[in-house]
Amino acid sequence: MKNFRDEEFRAIQVKEVAKGKFDQLLVRRQVRDLPDNPLLLAVSHSSLNYKDAMSAFGNRSITKEYPHTPGIDAVGRVVDDRSGTFSVGAELLVTGYDLGMNTSGGLAEMIAIPPGWALSLPQGLNAWESMALGTAGLTAALCVEKLLESGAVPEDGEVLVTGATGGVGSIAVALLSKLGFRVAAVTGKLEAADFLTGLGAWKVLDRDTLAPFASKAMAKPLWAWAIDTVGGDTLFNVIKSLDYGGGVAACGMASGAQFHANVFPFILRGISLLGVDSVELPIEKKAAAWHRLSSEWHIGDQLHRIAEDISLEQSSEFLARLHRGHGIGRYVVDMS
Ligand code: NDP
Repeated sequence: MKNFRDEEFRAIQVKEVAKGKFDQLLVRRQVRDLPDNPLLLAVSHSSLNYKDAMSAFGNRSITKEYPHTPGIDAVGRVVDDRSGTFSVGAELLVTGYDLGMNTSGGLAEMIAIPPGWALSLPQGLNAWESMALGTAGLTAALCVEKLLESGAVPEDGEVLVTGATGGVGSIAVALLSKLGFRVAAVTGKLEAADFLTGLGAWKVLDRDTLAPFASKAMAKPLWAWAIDTVGGDTLFNVIKSLDYGGGVAACGMASGAQFHANVFPFILRGISLLGVDSVELPIEKKAAAWHRLSSEWHIGDQLHRIAEDISLEQSSEFLARLHRGHGIGRYVVDMS
């Protein structure tokens, strides 16, 4: 019987090269050095998410110990499963849980994980499409679901999306417009306005549009609903400018984790703050969201506008871009 543990594979490895300075290098690693988890996958594609950039640049709230291989997303085929849950050759999708945080991640040709983290690749999505969506797509879908569960319908008025050119933001714009909502896309990259209107944005607004609200207890009601991927004071500026009975699905912290707030939007306009987590979500709920993304919420050719292919070698350059907030859309890491 073949001993997989003797095999080598290529991986990105993040190392602390001087105090507080982290490099991301392409290295060869051995399967025997992966965590002792039962499910071994040969990864065909991964993708880059903001969290990977945080891990790659030494954020210890994401990754405690280095050297480390980041990558919170992966799709690939089963090489071995000691748990007997999956057959050799089955194509599986993995997002979140501890993958790429403190468990060696998807920016590598091999991962070893607990079987409970993996889903069969849904029918209706190929491996590339699943990573063009990745954690960002799953999160965007969960945000849209939160709004729909709260009663959002297109007739309510505009839906604001912040961090709109980012991974979660761009897929949220495409999904909401597919569902008939008028999307106001907020971005720090007005030069990418055509990208956003191409995804169906109704209007594109400069990030500074929200800044004047910071000095006010409440702002004029401008949007019915919102998806915020940015966090920080932007989140509360969004809350202040929502119309009566509206709500914001909050998933991100690209501009910061803290925000200053007051109670007025909640008690005078009945605004809801709807938290979204795609990482620790039970696998059955992830499967249901992926099923939607692979069927009635499939955004088809828009994925090719949103996602760009890069090689494993290029990952470090693109992680740096994401870390600076300069990414546009999604980056699929092709290892096939
Ligand atoms: P990306 O890096 O792809 O996009 C982030 C976008 O946010 C940027 O492109 C930029 O868009 C905007 N942005 C960046 N910095 C700032 C800033 N200082 N002020 C305002 N806007 C800024 O990240 P992802 O889409 O992968 O993730 C977005 C956020 O969502 C992250 O904070 C991430 O950690 C979080 N997340 C949370 C998940 C969950 O389960 N809750 C799952 C996935 C992601 P623009 O220039 O268009 O404004």
